[in-house]
Amino acid sequence: MEHPADTEITDLFIIGGGINGCGIARDATGRGLSVALAEMNDLASATSSASTKLFHGGLRYLEYFEFRLVREALIERETLLKAMPHISWPMRFVLPYHKDMRFESDTPTSKLLSLFMPWLKGRRPAWLIRLGLFMYDHLGGRKILPGTATLDLTGATVGAPLQDRFTKAYEYSDCWVEDSRLVVLNARDAEARGARIMTRTQVVSATSEDGIWCVETRNNESGETKAFRARMLVNAGGPWVGDIIQSKVRLNSREGVRLVRGSHIVTRKLYDHDKCYFFQGADGRIIFAIPYETDFTLIGTTDSEHGNPSKKPVCTPDEQDYLLGFVNQYFKQQLTRDDVVWTYSGVRPLYDDGASSATAATRDYTLKVETSAGAPVLNIFGGKITTYRRLAESAMEKIGEHLSLSKGKWTAGVPLPGGNFPVDGGGRLVADLQSRFPFLSDFWARRLVRAYGTEAAVILGDAEQAVDLGRDFGATLTEVEVGWLMTHEYARTAEDVIWRRNKLGLRLPAEQTQALDDWMAQRRHSTPEAAVCGIRRRT
Ligand SMILES: Cc1cc2nc3c(=O)[nH]c(=O)nc-3n(C[C@H](O)[C@H](O)[C@H](O)COP(=O)(O)OP(=O)(O)OC[C@H]3O[C@@H](n4cnc5c(N)ncnc54)[C@H](O)[C@@H]3O)c2cc1C
Repeated sequence: MEHPADTEITDLFIIGGGINGCGIARDATGRGLSVALAEMNDLASATSSASTKLFHGGLRYLEYFEFRLVREALIERETLLKAMPHISWPMRFVLPYHKDMRFESDTPTSKLLSLFMPWLKGRRPAWLIRLGLFMYDHLGGRKILPGTATLDLTGATVGAPLQDRFTKAYEYSDCWVEDSRLVVLNARDAEARGARIMTRTQVVSATSEDGIWCVETRNNESGETKAFRARMLVNAGGPWVGDIIQSKVRLNSREGVRLVRGSHIVTRKLYDHDKCYFFQGADGRIIFAIPYETDFTLIGTTDSEHGNPSKKPVCTPDEQDYLLGFVNQYFKQQLTRDDVVWTYSGVRPLYDDGASSATAATRDYTLKVETSAGAPVLNIFGGKITTYRRLAESAMEKIGEHLSLSKGKWTAGVPLPGGNFPVDGGGRLVADLQSRFPFLSDFWARRLVRAYGTEAAVILGDAEQAVDLGRDFGATLTEVEVGWLMTHEYARTAEDVIWRRNKLGLRLPAEQTQALDDWMAQRRHSTPEAAVCGIRRRT
């Protein structure tokens, strides 16, 4: 193993390549710090690829009086949309109303109403939903997204898939985001500004000597160990934040994280319009049904306690039944487990605020700096995909108390790679791409633009026909694209490609996935610099 004394001292060493680690890496490098980031698996391999994929204010958090979080997230939606119009886009959410809809009983709002209006008996009245949506429209300085509308569902396209008892609905705005691509693009941008991004690299220990951290890492593919020295540590381990505090950095900290699993199911497309549904359940919870990957519908999520971060989260049969039962109260078409084509599950690393239920635990973030080990470490608890950029800015304030920064906030309005085009320019980009590369089908061109934005044309290069893009792995995935993902986007395996850089796993049969994996393994071995984990060819 390399001795720490031989290595240069990095300003910031970040543990964790989820959205929070990569967001902080980007912000910090842009402010002149030297940054190294270690991710033990693939980027976004944990919670940051398992979200509902919404840039949202969180309508339901209003019932918990989480006004700070909701306001920050609402404002942030449009800032983010402008910086990444390829991987994020506006969506309309239809909230069907029925008079029997109920609150979760321990929200501050339901407690207040049961005190002053006991006759409501836990029901969520229409005026309250309207009030909530009014606040949602006005708390966050909305400029691009349209406001709330009231809908008559009778005879309307959005009413067609719903049971006849739903005659009225509200419609409001939020945004979609490709969560795992958001992580990778932040990592790429950080690297382009000078950060060192190491994947498949696990931090096994961190100790401080004379005010400097000595961080030991192990490459999870080759087994090679390395040591790094750093002035400050950021623990962005998501579900592992507590494990890192206790067993890697060995701090005597009492801060805790509450692990709450959330699962989704995916079915074939259930309806023919592009809007989402926001369904309220008899148990006071809410779930979404969202058009997904052109031909599918995404339904989620659940809230279940999850004990151990290293236990792989899966959508249990009970969770599947819960989600199916939930949507079956709304849709005419009654779904069974046979309709489920894929499931995924993630663990929310929530700050333990002592809330009674998993649903009630705060979704806001908490940042704590510890110096008791002799050098500073910033521990990150909680947070949303939506607030990652603001979380990074708050982190930089804390980091700035220990390291000197060359400039202030800078990330608002700075596009991520491929995102340098107007918010409403996606359609134009697709048309331009198809006119330059006429062999692209509508699906293919749209998929490339929604993944790579203005970089889609760069990836396709001088191709004049599909065969110029090399081997065809199926479902429009070609050798040229996979090569780009391996060279520029840290992909190492077929799973990285078809479940995180895109979602073609929904379309590729097992034998094609295996062929892709074999091809990638061969390429890794024949390209020496790419064979070393985390060390990629510079762009
Ligand atoms: C079901 C569900 C739905 C959600 N929906 C939304 C939504 O719609 N909108 C929204 O805004 N937010 C949503 N969220 C919240 C959001 O996904 C999370 O807050 C966010 O992804 C957390 O990111 P993170 O970087 O903290 O954690 P993670 O993404 O889990 O990243 C932590 C990383 O640290 C790595 N790591 C851990 N230990 C080590 C070590 N020793 N060495 C090296 N690496 C290590 C892990 O491998 C992991 O990749 C949802 C969450 C869930 C679970």
